[in-house]
Amino acid sequence: MKLYNTMTRQKGEFTPLNGNTVRIYSCGPTVYGYAHIGNMRTYVFMDFLRRTLQWNGYDLLHAMNITDVGHLVSDSDDGEDKMSKTAREQKKTPWEIAEYYTGVFLRDIERLNIQIPEIVPKATMHIQEMIDFVQGLLDNGYAYETSDGIYYDIKKFKDYGKLSRMNFDENQAGARVEVNSEKRHPADFALWKKADPTHIMQWESPWGMGYPGWHIECSAMGLKYLGEEFDIHTGGVDHIPIHHENEIAQTCGLLGHPAAKWWIHGEFMLVDGGKMSKSLGNTYTLDQLQEKGYSPMVFRYFCLNAHYSQKLNFTFEGMDSAKKSLKNLKNQIKKHKGADGQVSEEELIKLKNEFEEAINDDLNIPKALGAVWNMARYETKSNKIYELIVLCDSILGIDLDKDDVEENGANEVDSDLDREIKEQIALRLEAKKAKNYAEADRIRNELAARGIILTDTKEGTTYSIK
Ligand code: AMP
Ligand code: ZN
Repeated sequence: MKLYNTMTRQKGEFTPLNGNTVRIYSCGPTVYGYAHIGNMRTYVFMDFLRRTLQWNGYDLLHAMNITDVGHLVSDSDDGEDKMSKTAREQKKTPWEIAEYYTGVFLRDIERLNIQIPEIVPKATMHIQEMIDFVQGLLDNGYAYETSDGIYYDIKKFKDYGKLSRMNFDENQAGARVEVNSEKRHPADFALWKKADPTHIMQWESPWGMGYPGWHIECSAMGLKYLGEEFDIHTGGVDHIPIHHENEIAQTCGLLGHPAAKWWIHGEFMLVDGGKMSKSLGNTYTLDQLQEKGYSPMVFRYFCLNAHYSQKLNFTFEGMDSAKKSLKNLKNQIKKHKGADGQVSEEELIKLKNEFEEAINDDLNIPKALGAVWNMARYETKSNKIYELIVLCDSILGIDLDKDDVEENGANEVDSDLDREIKEQIALRLEAKKAKNYAEADRIRNELAARGIILTDTKEGTTYSIK
């Protein structure tokens, strides 16, 4: 199987470093708010990678962090911590905020049929590992202390900028990163920040009370769970110039060599051809799509249409067309289910090869989807083809074997069921008000067992049917 490596800017044959197990690290979400569909695109790409590796017979050891210690508002190591800011706004503790949004995130990725990685470590549970890492960098001469923290000394690392192929000359870098007078180089970044007494999240360290920089968590947790060297590191393209550059610098500073062999980055999702941003009001969540009548599977189908290395432009016209295509595809597939037409072994292999070659060519999922359409449209209707399509759906992950109500969105769920669920939601709200959390959980779990998933939002509780 071939993959593209951002580090070498080349496509090459993938083989694991060690035996049959592929070790992967993916940068996970910062849980101070709802993840939007752009974030979800990156996790859908991560899922295609997982599934394609599994198709090729590999076992996976995959870690994806949960950033529950808020990183700062700006990249310049200044400004308020995002987690604390949301906590203050919502009058909750940062831990409550993180727990709530982690739950929503995990539920969302499950609704998108994204396999949950084997290890999902929380940053706040690994503060000691981060402190040890920072101490190691100080001991090795890659870091220095200032009055407000411990900083990485990028001039000590000759390969700094290699991944993004940027030149971090003294003069150039100053323009991008605000200058802190005690820093030796404007692009030196915080490994540990000293906290003032009002800072909500802080921990004891050899340098007084403080909290970790954002980049150190991925290096420390990657090392703990995947070892000194692992196969693949994923993330969105926005991480190439700062976050991943810094991860590499940290690991090389501690171990003397990089950890990840392959760096694979997912391109961004745009909205109406432009940037997705809260201020423009175009950062949709999965729930908002569901409210507009587009199920998570329609969104996943929409994502299949662009290669992960290409920008994908989100529009509602595009979603309408994805919804129609998914429905059509399922209708075509149904004609094969249980049909007794004869298709030769040779033909089946040819159809399967077309699909397999596409996924193994750097996850060419749009082409693989085309191959599945060819199977669905195959003139002779045969259950053998149906079985092959179901097998291919172990990569696409769009429930091609399911006849679901959900495909039409929650809007079209039959009204008796809708009424019943809303009654249960009201009972759960009463239970919560009475602080009877056990009863509230019981109601949630009972519905979940029937595939009815509740999501708590600021505007109230919504539901979706899996
Ligand atoms: P964050 O929670 O901001 O760290 O983002 C989580 C993941 O989503 C990261 O891997 C980002 O690179 C990715 N991401 C953020 N915005 C977008 C977008 N518009 N399209 C695709 N991926 C994105
Ligand atoms: Zn990371």
